Amino acid sequence: MRPATNSGHLQQVRLGNLSTVLLSLVDRPGSRADLAQRVGLTKATVASLIEPLLDQRILIEDAATISGRGRPSKPLRFHPEAPIALGAEINVGYLAVTTTGIDGAILSTRHLDVDNRRRSAEDLVGHLIDLIEQDETYRGRRVFGAGLAVPGIVVGDTVVRAPNVPGLTGARLADRLRTALGLDIVEVDNEANLAALAHLWPRKLAGDDFLYVSGDVGIGGGLVTGGTLYRGVSGFAGELGHISIERAGRRCRCGGQGCVEQYAGLDAILGDAGLDNLRALSNALADADIDARGAVARAGAALGVALASVINICDLTTVVLGGCYAEIFEPLAPALGAELERRTLAANSRPTTVLAAPVRSDAAVRGGAALVARRACTEPERLLQAAHTTS
Ligand SMILES: [Zn+2]
Repeated sequence: MRPATNSGHLQQVRLGNLSTVLLSLVDRPGSRADLAQRVGLTKATVASLIEPLLDQRILIEDAATISGRGRPSKPLRFHPEAPIALGAEINVGYLAVTTTGIDGAILSTRHLDVDNRRRSAEDLVGHLIDLIEQDETYRGRRVFGAGLAVPGIVVGDTVVRAPNVPGLTGARLADRLRTALGLDIVEVDNEANLAALAHLWPRKLAGDDFLYVSGDVGIGGGLVTGGTLYRGVSGFAGELGHISIERAGRRCRCGGQGCVEQYAGLDAILGDAGLDNLRALSNALADADIDARGAVARAGAALGVALASVINICDLTTVVLGGCYAEIFEPLAPALGAELERRTLAANSRPTTVLAAPVRSDAAVRGGAALVARRACTEPERLLQAAHTTS
């Protein structure tokens, strides 16, 4: 066997160790000695790994503090001028932007309510770029990359299907943003996938195995198993909204019939309740309006029928209800839970936990930032490059 002395191999080992150190610091700050112990390296190795990160102002070492006995320790954490992650979202009724640190700390958020149903991709991207450029944190900091959430299916860099914002279909949004923002790293993904990711990074908020359900006009799903988002062979996994619950049921924008979003999507609930928007629905629910509560309960039952099929296939323990469903959770969850109880085969062995999403309406845009912040830790060579070229 050849000794592992070639420089390419050593470089790979070094980058792997660097990634481990960065991921450990996302978890919590710590001194060199803490880090060495946490990641199983010597203090000398840790010192040599972090040197370029300190030089490039990615990490900072605080002044020594004396805690208990022993030598004073100097905690390491992400530098307040370190490159940041940009999250952005185009959805049916709004645009949103957020910036976070590599450690996931939220630095800024911007949200603009606007009806995007009939706008072109060019128009949408132009408005999104305006919103990004208004953000002072974005303007003032080095930016590692951007993650964009869209209400559609994304394959490679292309939105292949976006029934509720048809102008996005066929758009190559990443290319457009790379050029406009001057960033190398721009990723585009489905909003429910990214909202699910916001519950995995930087902290696991719903365990390792869950189905994230994103309620809006459409219904999206993010399937997480073993702590990893499942995208399917070509990126189409998690299209919950188009599970048919009635073979000859209502016609859907996808071309199908009986799709659950025609019974449990926000427009369906509002139509049933005779209300115009989510705020009016929330107010009516707060006033214990019988029609509103009935409409939400019927939607919960319809959603429960669809989710029971997913749970029977995937054997997941937890359903996380996000988007508008988190806002109407209290009257929605009992009817949904009753259908799960009735229809899931595992119900006798273990109940399915149904949670209101811990990360609320900004989950998808935060997931967009999380996608690139995680990449900064797992591809430290690109983080160093971004820090160097933009410093
Ligand atoms: Zn459909």
